[in-house]
Amino acid sequence: MPRISNKIAELRRVLPAGVKLVAVSKFHPLEALQEAYAAGQRRFGESRADELAAKAEAMPADVEWHFIGHLQTNKVRRVVACASVIESIDSGRLLRAVSAEAVRQGRTVGLLLQVHVAAEETKTGFTPDELLAAARVALTLPGVEVRGVMGMATNTDRTDRILADFRAIADVGRRLREIIPGAAEVSMGMSGDWPLAIGQGATIVRIGSAIFGDRQYH
Ligand SMILES: *Cc1c(COP(=O)(O)O)cnc(C)c1O
Repeated sequence: MPRISNKIAELRRVLPAGVKLVAVSKFHPLEALQEAYAAGQRRFGESRADELAAKAEAMPADVEWHFIGHLQTNKVRRVVACASVIESIDSGRLLRAVSAEAVRQGRTVGLLLQVHVAAEETKTGFTPDELLAAARVALTLPGVEVRGVMGMATNTDRTDRILADFRAIADVGRRLREIIPGAAEVSMGMSGDWPLAIGQGATIVRIGSAIFGDRQYH
């Protein structure tokens, strides 16, 4: 499947310098990740704790793992053990649990605070005001380093709505930097909408199916 390496090379050509690519490999087999790795990809995104742990064990140690799924507190231990960045911090309770576990493991974990701006109720995340309150709490916690915000746009064909969502995420990022100046990352944009996200200031894009093809849920 030379397809994967071609997609990675193509994305690298078109992404602006400084925008980080997280290859979202959830539900894809190890061979797919290995092909991406051979093509030079080092940042991978996973959304389930057990799958992340299994893949982290099988892949080379220099992979930077981003956890992007809803994280339950009983899975925090597994994720803290392998993730460089947890992009999906969506509650104060989770924030405290990750901090406590990072201290226990003697690690520092990078965090993005997830903001909910999309129309769908099913998507998780803080409201903008809750996110800023969580950032103030995070400043007092050991073992964690808030690096920015993560968000998803509404799943719609309406470009104006997607743009408004990305603008809202970027705006929360600006407000976050008034509290934590170094928290510069804005993770937004997926396979279907990443060019719009770049236009609104994304520094990280999370791209799955445009690299690996459709996911086989099982
Ligand atoms: C699955 C997922 C992605 C990637 O979605 P694609 O449409 O396959 O690019 C990005 N971000 C999050 C949070 C996801 O769960």
